Amino acid sequence: MTYIIKGKTGDWELVIGLETHIEVLSHSKLFSGASADYNPTVAPNTQVSFVDAAMPGMLPTLNRECVNQAIRFGLAINAEISKRSIFARKQYFYPDLPQGYQISQPAEEPPVVGRGWLEIESDNGSVKKILIERAHMEQDAGKSFHDKHPNKTFVDLNRSGVCLLEIVTFLDIKNPENNSYITSPDEAERYLRQIREIARATGVSNANMEEGSMRADVNVSVRKVGETGFRTRTETKNMVSFKFIKTAIEFEARRQIEIYESGDEVSQDTMRFNQDRGTTSVMRSKEDALDYRYFPDPDLLPLIITDDQIEKIRETMPELPAAKRARYMGELGLNAYDAARLTESVEVSKWFESAVGDKPARAKPVANWMISELFAHPEFEMKPADLSELVDMIAAAEINGKQAKDIFIKMLDGEKGNPKEIADRFGMKQITDTGAIEKAVAEVLAANAAQVAEYKSGKTGMLGFFVGAVMKATGGKANPAAVNEILKEKLI
Ligand code: ADP
Ligand code: MG
Repeated sequence: MTYIIKGKTGDWELVIGLETHIEVLSHSKLFSGASADYNPTVAPNTQVSFVDAAMPGMLPTLNRECVNQAIRFGLAINAEISKRSIFARKQYFYPDLPQGYQISQPAEEPPVVGRGWLEIESDNGSVKKILIERAHMEQDAGKSFHDKHPNKTFVDLNRSGVCLLEIVTFLDIKNPENNSYITSPDEAERYLRQIREIARATGVSNANMEEGSMRADVNVSVRKVGETGFRTRTETKNMVSFKFIKTAIEFEARRQIEIYESGDEVSQDTMRFNQDRGTTSVMRSKEDALDYRYFPDPDLLPLIITDDQIEKIRETMPELPAAKRARYMGELGLNAYDAARLTESVEVSKWFESAVGDKPARAKPVANWMISELFAHPEFEMKPADLSELVDMIAAAEINGKQAKDIFIKMLDGEKGNPKEIADRFGMKQITDTGAIEKAVAEVLAANAAQVAEYKSGKTGMLGFFVGAVMKATGGKANPAAVNEILKEKLI
């Protein structure tokens, strides 16, 4: 279903553009040799070179590793890689920006990663292409702390100069028929999850919103259903949770609709999100928009990328989540839901593939056990080989499903050994001997004459009752398929 907001004057739809920042994984910073292993447990200002602290006369040196990461991400989103791009200075003043400018790649020039796309599930369940305008490299800023002292601000420059990749979605203003953009809060979340998946699968970034290695600026406008062309948008800055992003989009859309419906115009403002209230408010209006006075950084040469460099990186590209999902569904016969759950992280898909091993027939049962049991017990570090063994034992009719579950629970509770050893230790062996099952069936039928008569009068739904009784009589050890078969035979 298309996401629509009903207003007093009619139906409104949303137009959403996201500018997502991910912190690039690299050994050192974008233009200095200081460690880029930014993590909050490191003591403040211990990973700061003279370049990051903007000491006079220090010169930036481009870190090729960051460039390769940008190319890697670009290839993963099917993008054009620019053979030539430049770095420019974006001037603004803030205590956590000692240079007085951020080195970035200006919007007017080709960025390292040009036009690309990725696919998300749309609100009506179909696959939707989201166009990406660009992804460019820039320096991260330091961090200011305003809450450590009553009248002082502290600055930590560890993050200053770490490479960010800013990924901007595309809106085809000249061609409004091209609806490859985000149109609902849920689609925004799915898009961001895709970015995160791709960043993690390629090793470009941890893209973790809680840890601050992924954040997004959210552009929203609304328009009447059926209207062509786009209206004025606002931009809500620095969003760091999926939930807040969805709340902000929804709130901002309703605020704009109210403005239009009261006869006013929306102005192109920059907003802040108020977490406690789930509302947005104006941070600066268009009139106060900052003039960054971009100019090419005279200390940096243009960035030249060769075909050879791109091809070398292409050869090292891992299988991406979308391709992996398609393979799980095609080769292994999983449904879309299972495939999506099992490709959420590289660790999970590795575990899954290891448990399946070279037996595709294990895929479905392994997926079921992982999704319904293992995901519910994240603290349980089961070995993939143990799950392989467990599902093989069921497939070979050595144990039945109930016994498998009992073994699993024992392992969960710390029982030592692999499933076979545990089954032996506790005498869990499925009864497949038809003679023994026939005997139990005969006893159950004899003891439930009234129910047998009912069944024979046409109440075949009662089969489950007999199956249950036979299973109980065999201490849960009988092979349920054999029990079913024999019961049906005897009940005719
Ligand atoms: P800026 O340079 O001011 O950041 P951009 O042109 O780079 O603006 O656009 C930023 C983001 O806003 C992009 O994702 C773009 O698709 C989106 N955007 C542009 N116009 C609109 C609009 N009318 N409604 C919603 N999003 C928009
Ligand atoms: Mg922008």
